[in-house]
Amino acid sequence: MSQKKFQIMLAQRTENIFEEWKLRGSLTERELYYFLHKLKGTSGTIGLQQLSLYCASQLEILTSSNDQKIPVSSLENLKNRIRSYFYESADGKKEKFQLPDRYVNRLDQETFILIIDDDLEFVSYLKELLEKLGAQVIISLNGKRGIEQFYSMRPSIVIVDHKLPDMSGFEVLDQIAETARQKNTTLAISSEQPTKELRIESYRRGAMDFITKPFDMDVFFPYLFNRQQWQKAISSSIITDSLTGVGNRRYFDEVINNWVKDSEQFKSTFSLVMIDLDHFKQVNDLYGHPAGDEALRKFGEIIKKEKREGDCVFRYGGEEFAFLLNDIQAEDTVHVVERVRKKFNSVEFTSGKKTFTVTFSAGSATFSGDMTELISAADQALYEAKRNGRNQTVIYDQCRVVVRRKLMVIIVDDDSFIRQILQQTLLELKSRDVDITVKTYSDGPTFLGDDWYTPDDYFIVLLDGVMPKIDGLEVLSRLKSDHSKTNVTVSMMTARKSANDIKAALWLGADDYIIKPFQPSEVLGRIDKLANRLFDKRE
Ligand code: GH3
Ligand code: MG
Ligand code: MG
Repeated sequence: MSQKKFQIMLAQRTENIFEEWKLRGSLTERELYYFLHKLKGTSGTIGLQQLSLYCASQLEILTSSNDQKIPVSSLENLKNRIRSYFYESADGKKEKFQLPDRYVNRLDQETFILIIDDDLEFVSYLKELLEKLGAQVIISLNGKRGIEQFYSMRPSIVIVDHKLPDMSGFEVLDQIAETARQKNTTLAISSEQPTKELRIESYRRGAMDFITKPFDMDVFFPYLFNRQQWQKAISSSIITDSLTGVGNRRYFDEVINNWVKDSEQFKSTFSLVMIDLDHFKQVNDLYGHPAGDEALRKFGEIIKKEKREGDCVFRYGGEEFAFLLNDIQAEDTVHVVERVRKKFNSVEFTSGKKTFTVTFSAGSATFSGDMTELISAADQALYEAKRNGRNQTVIYDQCRVVVRRKLMVIIVDDDSFIRQILQQTLLELKSRDVDITVKTYSDGPTFLGDDWYTPDDYFIVLLDGVMPKIDGLEVLSRLKSDHSKTNVTVSMMTARKSANDIKAALWLGADDYIIKPFQPSEVLGRIDKLANRLFDKRE
């Protein structure tokens, strides 16, 4: 790595400045101060340590706040000293920083560094070194452009010079720090003045680090490697489900969107398999939550081991997983899924003295142009696998009528007017994936005695609080005493605004309550939200 060309560039620029001074005849002490200040930082970074020290010694006798004019003719000595340091280096003095071989390509393309700094020699030298390390580097010579580049290029590391031509580095921080935090971006301020005040202000305004100019590369590179390792660790913790070690729901959304785009671009295909552990509520009830957690963890471990490289698995929520398989039709996903099934079903879990095994059901579908349709198709196939007896995989087949999920809304109220108005309103509920029906009962005993229940469908019960035969709380309590009915959601309708009644209802297991009198449209909105929660409770 040659520093020479940057030294030559700097010498050239310095000569231009001298030329400009000559034409002007004089300059203020403040101008001279900033000139030396910048030269000190740049020269030190590109291997001109003697020049940097000389600038520092001159700065000690100048002040930055003095507007007194200095005739250029009195600066001959200073100019010649500066020139002599450039020539000394040109005479072939040993360059100070040598990039160790082990640093080459130590960073990858994901390390995307934005340098916002107007010191061209310094930044181009740094860019060249960083690119040798394998990083990608972009440069902005002023704050405004830097902010634009930050938002359009999403760098992973940003180094902002404290003094920029159009604004201060702090003003840049003010405009990017919040987003940088959200995106896990490293922000550093660089400055020739390592004063306590500047450091404090840098940290207060959102910088993570403060780097003193001239950069000492022996320190700077290990610093960069350290930051990059942290970023990798944080990024992976953001996308991973901590219990199972597979991707999390948020990451699934990101990956599936990318796969959809890729499949449009490259005319490739992929499949989605939705997997749900069977009777998992029972597993928890019989063996305890820690044992349930262990089964989830083991499932994650097995599927990660059995899947092909390039396929991705995610915890979609609770005990449900989404498995994306590249370049494969749904029919062919069965091989992989059944391999997982064989391994998983044979695991014996223990809880105290008891041992147990766990099975899962799966629904598989091929992508055919629409992401929502794909998820819905895999979901419907999974639902059919459950209805067919669980512990199996069903392939979604467009030609075959796959059983659609059913949602029944049940109204239990002694007031026939309310029953009628609610029934009419609820018939407006429509869903692409779910068949919705409405049923009404005029009292608790008839409702409890009827055989409306099926284990594989979903139910929302709107339950009146005050009824003649037995009241709503009693109906609720009997309904909830049967713990297997996890697919029943209850919303109490109560005119009594007393906090105690509401508390009692929630205590007995009501999921929601509606205060009477209500607007039918309000009820419709709530049912819509509850239904969404039922079918997408895997958040
Ligand atoms: P099905 O075969 O129809 O899927 O029955 P199921 O009991 O598995 O289905 P349901 O959706 O009714 O119950 C899912 C259960 O999974 C309820 C919940 O307590 C449990 N569960 C969700 N997340 C976790 C978790 O992180 N750890 C444990 N131990 N259990 C969980
Ligand atoms: Mg389940
Ligand atoms: Mg489930």
